[in-house]
Amino acid sequence: MSITSNIRRILSEIPPHVTLLGATKGRSVEEIMEAINAGVKVIGENYVQEALEKYPSIGKKVEWHFIGHLQRNKVKKICEIFDVVETVDSEVIAKEIDRRCGVRNKVMPVMIEINSAKEPQKSGVYPEKAMELARKILELKNIKLIGVMTMGPVVENPEDIRPYFRITKRVYDELRIKFGKEIRYLSMGMSSSYRIAIEEGANIIRIGTAIFGPREKKN
Ligand SMILES: *Cc1c(COP(=O)(O)O)cnc(C)c1O
Repeated sequence: MSITSNIRRILSEIPPHVTLLGATKGRSVEEIMEAINAGVKVIGENYVQEALEKYPSIGKKVEWHFIGHLQRNKVKKICEIFDVVETVDSEVIAKEIDRRCGVRNKVMPVMIEINSAKEPQKSGVYPEKAMELARKILELKNIKLIGVMTMGPVVENPEDIRPYFRITKRVYDELRIKFGKEIRYLSMGMSSSYRIAIEEGANIIRIGTAIFGPREKKN
């Protein structure tokens, strides 16, 4: 199956309010351009260096989301090229994004990453800590909270991820009740789980393999 036909199929299958984000780690500029021409309007990159290499050839044809693990020393570059940061999980990182974007007179839309299965080795805040982090983010001027994202645990049967999507949706609802409709994105679901994620309320799904085919091992 070609990238174009994969995208057409997914776009025809998902409801119109759901954004298809192409997860493009390890994919070439040519593959990404094909995806854009087939209707992908948002891409997600995990590694700053890789994004910097592709950015000059792609630029503003598409919206860029950072979906990788955030390191403080990479935040400056992130503020330069990304339009949204989906993986904020600490006050330290939030403040650094605020400071770096402040220098550039830019307000960065961000999402809080939820560690929905409470896996100690993984990034993201535990669900019960999201409200506290949201309050901290709302005090900052150059960073704006727009939603939450989760990866969820690695499961054998896709159905087993549903409870973690539910937990994340609950956090999303609580933030919306507290802070209003500025909180409007719920990013969850990947190639094997996006249908379940949409059933549980996702309005951004992040798809790599189902668009571009299997990745070389590493990610
Ligand atoms: C790679 C990646 C995806 C996409 O995964 P697939 O299983 O290839 O669809 C989604 N979200 C994040 C954060 C990723 O790193």
